[in-house]
Amino acid sequence: MALITRRHFARQMAFAAALCGRPVWAIGESYRLFDADKQDGAPPYPQTIRKLASQIVGQVITPGAADYDAARSIFNRAFDRRPAVIVRCGSPSDVARSLDFAKAQHLPLAVRAGGHSRLGFGMCDGGVVIDLSAMKRVEVDISKRVARAEAGALVRDLDTATQHFGLATTSGGCPTVGIAGFTLGGGEGRLMEKYGAACDNLLSAQVVTVDGRQVEASPKSNPDLFWAIRGGGGNFGVVTALEYQLHPVDQVLSGALTYPPGRIPDLLQAFVKFLAGAPDEMDAFAQLLPSEQGRRLKVDVCYCGDPRMGNDFLRPLRAFKPQDDSVKIMPYLEAQAAGGFLAAPVAHFQTNLFLRELSGAAIAAITTAINDAPATCKAIIVPLRGAVSRVSVTDTAFALREPGYEIDMAGVWNTPAVKAEVVRWVQATRDNLQPFSHGVYVNQLGDTSDQLVRSGYGPNYARLVEIKKKYDPNNVLRLNQNIKPDSASNT
Ligand SMILES: Cc1cc2nc3c(=O)[nH]c(=O)nc-3n(C[C@H](O)[C@H](O)[C@H](O)COP(=O)(O)OP(=O)(O)OC[C@H]3O[C@@H](n4cnc5c(N)ncnc54)[C@H](O)[C@@H]3O)c2cc1C
Repeated sequence: MALITRRHFARQMAFAAALCGRPVWAIGESYRLFDADKQDGAPPYPQTIRKLASQIVGQVITPGAADYDAARSIFNRAFDRRPAVIVRCGSPSDVARSLDFAKAQHLPLAVRAGGHSRLGFGMCDGGVVIDLSAMKRVEVDISKRVARAEAGALVRDLDTATQHFGLATTSGGCPTVGIAGFTLGGGEGRLMEKYGAACDNLLSAQVVTVDGRQVEASPKSNPDLFWAIRGGGGNFGVVTALEYQLHPVDQVLSGALTYPPGRIPDLLQAFVKFLAGAPDEMDAFAQLLPSEQGRRLKVDVCYCGDPRMGNDFLRPLRAFKPQDDSVKIMPYLEAQAAGGFLAAPVAHFQTNLFLRELSGAAIAAITTAINDAPATCKAIIVPLRGAVSRVSVTDTAFALREPGYEIDMAGVWNTPAVKAEVVRWVQATRDNLQPFSHGVYVNQLGDTSDQLVRSGYGPNYARLVEIKKKYDPNNVLRLNQNIKPDSASNT
């Protein structure tokens, strides 16, 4: 214990000296013998950081650097983490070197692509961040209708590149979400009823495994890994590039129908009926929003078929006389730019449950919850239907394959008092809806536990544990919705 404390102190001093621009102490490498098997988060020696910087094509950013604060900022401002080293990688080899560095230094490791994890998993305290944000090139093969994107690309990078050719694949509802975190966790978007989840359109991926190998994951190469990364998140390796199937997508009919306050149970029943008659081209989600006049329902739609026909399908929703109707024909990129719940980085807590149906009892529970909601909270109802629900549950790790509804409850804050209200409401709402629940969507969880992870993967959990044991037996990649290699695989 005394040795660990002494070593930690020595490293802290050397680190501080380096940041102040003074000569670093001459600390013998033999000193490191004391920490051979520990992963205690002690800061790395400045000279080892300099060595890492000399070995990569990307950039190493440490505390005190002018761009350190910008580099460590992530979308969910509830988290303010200070890593020891951010490696802004420029190539898969940089990723391999960074992995090696984190392991050799026994430091926690985070992987950051778009930085939109609800739990701030893309950043860590005192450890190493593999930052992929500089690797964002997207190439489109028009003849094969395939896009190859580096893993730091954002939704808007992928959409912009593919829409240039009148093509698209299922991508997220927020332009600044990273395609990597989004796809690896499943990937629900406005085209999922027609073309499936993002992970269903993944043709292959380049992965750096924790032992530093650069491998392909595809139906032919490492098919177990390919199965696992389609929903299993960042548990199995660091993905450096993703290849997607594209589809023709041009103008869409998109916008929102916002209803006057009140009538929420009737409107939700009408929403359910509307969905039952809607084709796969129709994507729609409902938001239960606060307003000064009371809680109101807003339905966002995006119809990717012939836009002129889309209006016919919207008749049942318009019959309920929305107060505001912004639905119109627009380019798909414009519909995507409209975004979802949060337009800008903010401290928030969002979590979710999956319901097989919106029964009268479930609607009553949701209505009660929204009527009690603090002003900065809302509920979002994302139907899962069409192509995304026609894939067998065991075909990919992403397990939400039954038709149903993902219910997200979320709130934002800018003071501790509001935070306490938000957290209380989100948790109470989840507890009240729990009896109706049959799973969760891992990508939209603002909290984590073994139970939640098991619930997210359902019948796929046991296979995921086996694949985790094979590719990351020491759980190096654990800042995620973690599949523990040593957990009992029975569900
Ligand atoms: C405003 C907002 C809107 C959203 N909208 C949607 C939506 O419409 N549909 C939807 O399905 N989800 C949505 N999400 C959830 C989103 O898909 C997840 O938060 C996702 O993990 C974000 O990915 P990222 O790359 O931006 O995040 P990061 O924070 O960079 O990464 C999240 C985690 O993913 C893993 N990861 C990321 N990149 C890699 C990689 N290259 N290799 C290995 N592991 C990696 C790591 O575990 C990492 O910690 C939204 C989130 C926000 C904040």
